[in-house]
Amino acid sequence: MHGIIFGMQQYFTNEELELNQLLKLDENTVHHITNVLRKKDGYIFRMVDKSNKCYLCKLEDFMARVISVVEEDHELDIDVTIVLSLIKNDKFELALQKLTELGVKRIVPYVANRSVIKIKDEKHKLERFRKIVKEASEQSHRDIIPEITSPATIRDLEKYLSKYNYVAYEKHNGSMLPFSEIDNSVTIIIGPEGGFELSEVESFEKMGFECCSLGKRILRAETAAMFVMANITGVFDK
Ligand code: SAH
Repeated sequence: MHGIIFGMQQYFTNEELELNQLLKLDENTVHHITNVLRKKDGYIFRMVDKSNKCYLCKLEDFMARVISVVEEDHELDIDVTIVLSLIKNDKFELALQKLTELGVKRIVPYVANRSVIKIKDEKHKLERFRKIVKEASEQSHRDIIPEITSPATIRDLEKYLSKYNYVAYEKHNGSMLPFSEIDNSVTIIIGPEGGFELSEVESFEKMGFECCSLGKRILRAETAAMFVMANITGVFDK
């Protein structure tokens, strides 16, 4: 077994691809193929284009010859938005990567009342977050790159309501998020290290978010986010 499909490198391009075309590769991709992977002409890789269609390409003179269409679907049949409170940067970035591998559609960085982390240089930070999810999308063969929105405050959350809306709240004696009863689209809010303020939870409820539990133990924020996403993936990736 050469792992020809699963082991294959994938890249994204902002261009629309056509069979047989020769695509000029951007600097990062050329660097990755030739210096990191040390590949030569004839190397075959996957390339997902602007309309999320995947193609096999062959390296030709540091360019990509588009040789065939890849008919595969790597996306979940439910649109999952995770509203993730800003937590310590390394934990937040770990969550971004893992949620992407598990199939999240959109991540909303949320400035919770108790978020100790403040984003200073927003543009730079978002670039870094987007680079992380792009690389995770390449690695996990996603057909799309999940969206990372600008950091949101409570008033912005209305924009991200789905068909089903939950807030993970450990102080509520409610029942477990009903993973197998949701469909279409879902938004789940995860709190920061110090948890939510009661008034914050009340505002979420007014907006239409329902409190739910993630089990009998207290999870760290990043674990909570991954737990939610992994359970949804387990239900939907049949
Ligand atoms: N309130 C705690 C811990 C916060 S845990 C404290 O003050 O230290 C971080 C976030 O993960 C919570 O805000 C909640 O959204 C989620 N979470 C963790 N464990 C949970 C559980 N058992 N049920 C529901 N949500 C949970």
